[in-house]
Amino acid sequence: MSSQHTGYGLSDEHRAVRQMVREFGENEIEPVAAAYDQSHEYPFEIIEQAAQLDLVAPGAPLEYGGAGMDTLSAAIVTEELWRADPGIGCAIGNNGFSTNVYLLTEYGDEWMCEEWLSKIVDGQAHDAIAVSEAAHGSDVSGIETRARKDGDEWVIDGNKMWISNGTVADVVVVFAKTNPDAGHRGISAFLVPTDRAGVRAEPIDDKLGIHAADLGEMLFDGVRVPEDHLIGEENQGFYYFMESLADGRVTVAAQAVGTMQAALDAAIEYAREREQFGQPIAEFQGVQHMIAEMATKVEVARDGVPRGDGRGTRRGRLDATGEHGQAVRQRAGRRGDRRRDPGPRRGWLRL
Ligand SMILES: Cc1cc2nc3c(=O)[nH]c(=O)nc-3n(C[C@H](O)[C@H](O)[C@H](O)COP(=O)(O)OP(=O)(O)OC[C@H]3O[C@@H](n4cnc5c(N)ncnc54)[C@H](O)[C@@H]3O)c2cc1C
Repeated sequence: MSSQHTGYGLSDEHRAVRQMVREFGENEIEPVAAAYDQSHEYPFEIIEQAAQLDLVAPGAPLEYGGAGMDTLSAAIVTEELWRADPGIGCAIGNNGFSTNVYLLTEYGDEWMCEEWLSKIVDGQAHDAIAVSEAAHGSDVSGIETRARKDGDEWVIDGNKMWISNGTVADVVVVFAKTNPDAGHRGISAFLVPTDRAGVRAEPIDDKLGIHAADLGEMLFDGVRVPEDHLIGEENQGFYYFMESLADGRVTVAAQAVGTMQAALDAAIEYAREREQFGQPIAEFQGVQHMIAEMATKVEVARDGVPRGDGRGTRRGRLDATGEHGQAVRQRAGRRGDRRRDPGPRRGWLRL
């Protein structure tokens, strides 16, 4: 029995990326993962180390200090980081990994990328994306946060819930209604530095896992930003967000595969070391069947993460569609924990 794999039909370059991230995970993450999980500490230092290897926002363009990795390489980075530890892997990946990089590079002004993306890629700044609200999760069109124009400024009011990096972010992309009567056609996206007056964050610390990853409630009380902090065009935010989810879903599918691989590795290690009836339990055929089934599911899930058919977003370099990534995530999710139903938030938080 072996947990070794190549996956995805990788090129030499992809294999080198996997090897590099695996070594980083084994040397820098695994030895400290339990301590971070217990302390719920945010791994600032590990994120800086990861940034030196281009593992923070690996898809960010070269001109902003990124590695310009393709979607498959970025998925491999995610998988290996989560294999080492989902909490620290999540904390690293929450920094501009897909959604904000996409929003800024596709629709943001040059100054936004220069001022913020470079710092995020360097591990010197942390970012968040604030869409969800207590009463509006899947239904993004229903959000109640408002942004109104006052002279040459936007004024933002509203509360956002379950925001990754919520209490550590230096900058956050906030989605708010600019035309409240127009449903999803009335949402805009704003770049908001968190040192602006009126921005507050409260930690949400009752997750069931990924404790090293920060989660918070973010409150915006009359927060003023200059008019050039609008990302792209007014009332187009919903469309930008939906586009960005294509990348995000590939990432989430890769997270699930990394976690599955870690569970498989742990099962194999334990089966080899645990002895019953005078032999390692790995030598019982029934145990071998179970591990073979696990390994099969991991490989099937891994092969589903990317889609090399060229479909994707306007950026054209995506090789996986949102629907496909989501299907893989669902398949991977079924493996582990039916208690998670009915939905992502209920599955992760103590209620
Ligand atoms: C760890 C963590 C990190 C997060 N990070 C962020 C973040 O950084 N930024 C952010 O904005 N949000 C974040 N969220 C929030 C996340 O985006 C929401 O949890 C998600 O959108 C689902 O919303 P909900 O939990 O309110 O579930 P609900 O929308 O209430 O859904 C509950 C259930 O109903 C199902 N359902 C809903 N609508 C339909 C439908 N039309 N048809 C069929 N089934 C449906 C859902 O699939 C789910 O099973 C985070 C959540 C968690 C747990």
